[in-house]
Amino acid sequence: MTETRARLTFLGTGTSQGVPMIACDCPVCMSTDPRDKRSRAAAMVDMGGIRTVIDAGPDFRHQMLREKVRHIDAILLTHNHKDHTGGLDDLRAFNYFEHKDSHIYCEPYVLESLKGEYPYCFSENKYPGVPEWRIHLIENEDHLRIDTHYNDPILVWEPGHGYVHQGNCGPVEEKHIDVTPIRVYHNRGGRYPILGYRFAQIVYLTDVVEFPDSQWHKLEGAEYITINCVKIGSPHYSHFCLEEAIDFAKKACDKAGIQHCYLTHLSHAMGKYTDLAERLSSENRSYEGRPLSILPAYDGLVLE
Ligand SMILES: [Zn+2]
Ligand SMILES: [Zn+2]
Ligand SMILES: [Zn+2]
Repeated sequence: MTETRARLTFLGTGTSQGVPMIACDCPVCMSTDPRDKRSRAAAMVDMGGIRTVIDAGPDFRHQMLREKVRHIDAILLTHNHKDHTGGLDDLRAFNYFEHKDSHIYCEPYVLESLKGEYPYCFSENKYPGVPEWRIHLIENEDHLRIDTHYNDPILVWEPGHGYVHQGNCGPVEEKHIDVTPIRVYHNRGGRYPILGYRFAQIVYLTDVVEFPDSQWHKLEGAEYITINCVKIGSPHYSHFCLEEAIDFAKKACDKAGIQHCYLTHLSHAMGKYTDLAERLSSENRSYEGRPLSILPAYDGLVLE
């Protein structure tokens, strides 16, 4: 693991329907606190001069505008659900202004889903202006290298014809970072394997309902962990409830020494930010002399 530190911005912290949810008049959906506006779960990580966006759901465009993003080196997908892939068409803006293909990293089954969702991106004769993606398959679940693609061709927009690749984009500095994929399960019973990722001191996990013992060693020495949580009081088939998320945070502190846990993928059923934060911080927790803090994340929050 490199000494470089990572900076993670929560682009979105909402569950698949987002908060506010369409047609809902509950106090959370009606709240005027910006921390209660939870767009679909995603994160942006800056590390070693490389910018990676983890997941691009239906709120991707809005998230890019809000954070004033002008450049992305890589899109890293956790799995193939629409709330994590539904915004990939909007990478077109980066194709246009950066004059480069968009580099997407995903597992082979996710690629198969993308071919079904976005057939026009994979056709031989593309309609002018469709997104230009370059897919990198993640086949080693223990290590992933992301680089600056310094050999990329230049993407040139020819009116009436669409994009053509020309020459070489030239003096882009060669940089790379090492990321650790973490194998987790989205459904109970060890079903639906998906990936989380560790960038230096930050572990980003979402849509997890089972964490296998074989993966704890990848978390050792990390400082922050994120985990999904959609409801309070009873288990959900594909997400942690609050009690399970707290148990997981305690385990991560106990087994890997991680002292800061942030909850994401939050639904309106989790209540308002202020109420949830107060509830979580009123419980003092410590493990083997180490304090453990558990807090809700919110859109725009930065960890570094
Ligand atoms: Zn999700
Ligand atoms: Zn609601
Ligand atoms: Zn999911």
